[in-house]
Amino acid sequence: QHNRALEAGSDFLKGGPKQLYINGEYSAAASGKTYWVNNPTTGQPLAEIADGNVLDVDRAVAAAQAAFEGDWARVKPQGRQQLLLRIADLVERHYDELAALDTLNMGAPLTRTRAMRSRALSLLRFYAGLATMPHGATIPNSVPGNVLSYTVKEPVGVVGAITPWNGPLTLGIWKIAPALAAGCTVVLKPSEQTPLSSLRLAELCTEAGLPPGVLNVITGQGVVGAALSAHRGVNKITFTGSTDVGQRIIAASAGNVKRLSLELGGKSPNIVFADADLDLAVPAAAMAVFANSGQVCSAGTRLFVQRQVYDEFVERVAAFGSQLVVGDPADPETNLGPLVSERHLSKVVSYLDIGHAEGARALCGGERCTSEPFDSGYFVRPTVFADVTDEMRIAREEIFGPVISALPFDDIDEVLRRANDSDLGLGSGVWTKSLKTAHKMSQGLRAGSVWVNCYQAMDAAVPFGGYKMSGYGRESGLEHIEEFLETKAIWLNI
Ligand code: NAD
Repeated sequence: QHNRALEAGSDFLKGGPKQLYINGEYSAAASGKTYWVNNPTTGQPLAEIADGNVLDVDRAVAAAQAAFEGDWARVKPQGRQQLLLRIADLVERHYDELAALDTLNMGAPLTRTRAMRSRALSLLRFYAGLATMPHGATIPNSVPGNVLSYTVKEPVGVVGAITPWNGPLTLGIWKIAPALAAGCTVVLKPSEQTPLSSLRLAELCTEAGLPPGVLNVITGQGVVGAALSAHRGVNKITFTGSTDVGQRIIAASAGNVKRLSLELGGKSPNIVFADADLDLAVPAAAMAVFANSGQVCSAGTRLFVQRQVYDEFVERVAAFGSQLVVGDPADPETNLGPLVSERHLSKVVSYLDIGHAEGARALCGGERCTSEPFDSGYFVRPTVFADVTDEMRIAREEIFGPVISALPFDDIDEVLRRANDSDLGLGSGVWTKSLKTAHKMSQGLRAGSVWVNCYQAMDAAVPFGGYKMSGYGRESGLEHIEEFLETKAIWLNI
């Protein structure tokens, strides 16, 4: 019965290996090689994928360049707007299929991938709306004579978009929608583990009327991303992924001084003051980490709780975590599906071992699910570690699994200093009824988002991004379309 819920994705999986998508059609990888991705729920092979390399990147970039200078350059902003709206309509019509592909491919519960529908659609429609917005200004100047100066906004050119596996469809759309609205062309490199929905999306874009070469998809390993980052024909890289790979992209992109936007890792503090509405904060603090099995960049993994309520609060969070259902992602009752891959499972389990060895106390979870029917999939129980101190690795390093590190604190200045004592600065949460505390924390936290009495609220209109080593550039909002535009100053001596 649960498998039936995933049938929407089965047609796309039929046939031979999934090919690269270049210039509006499928094409085999230059090497002729393929690789398999597994279904993380069962550990069984799911799909055979073309293993792209540098030569494929050359072909895709050439197609994107030709489109940028040719057909796409002739499409007016209003035309791009209409196209994005048509893409949104097709994504809406085929959404169940896209959600099923992501669930099969990365294990997120179907309830979650389906709930991301509104996010995917609102991104496409928001940036459709903005396609006609970029404009320059006429600016008075002090040059003698009658010299007019004005600015125009122009698309930056060919964009390499590199995405991770934790939200395959929406993370791709998040980059593609503003890039197309700005008039850029795109070579998308999805995570090697989760390319399916990106390929289907590219087909839908063609069906919507997007000219060939405007959106290309090259599947394969990190070498594809590295080749895009170094390619002289690529004008900008927009990347979401680990800080480690982000740093490699910065180095690789130096050759032609590419524009970069980097959405990198997080170790976000979620801070609960004793005066907070604890009934609201308990489930929110738990789901700030357990949603998507902890595979969320802005997860509130450092849970600071004021000492007066610390014991009670962490026990309540652990009790909440213990009753969450870990299991088949197609089952509507499931709260946590598997982790994305065996390799990622090993990483998360190694951090559970580190937590135990460092002397943290697991109030719930703390282990892999080994009993049937989960023994062949990549399942981990939601974990709350108490008695964590700031120096422990589980309090400093990104685990990217359902693991909360709970730390007590005494006063506001202390917690602000400790929360900011991290190289990363993506999200942050504050729970309090005091307006003064809320303001002081919001102003003091060094992070791209501060959520007060909520966590991970998102909207296509509100910018999101990192401070410090969590990256630079912003996604969503007006800021995001600017990331794909150049400003040209024109001087006219008349
Ligand atoms: P990753 O950095 O390993 O891989 C991301 C992408 O980069 C993949 O497509 C991969 O193939 C590609 N890649 C690998 N090596 C490359 C290279 N040398 N050059 C260019 N590209 C290369 O990340 P992941 O494991 O897929 O995803 C998890 C990470 O993503 C976490 O650190 C998480 O915090 C981060 N993330 C950040 C955000 C955000 O918005 N800030 C959102 C989601 C995930």
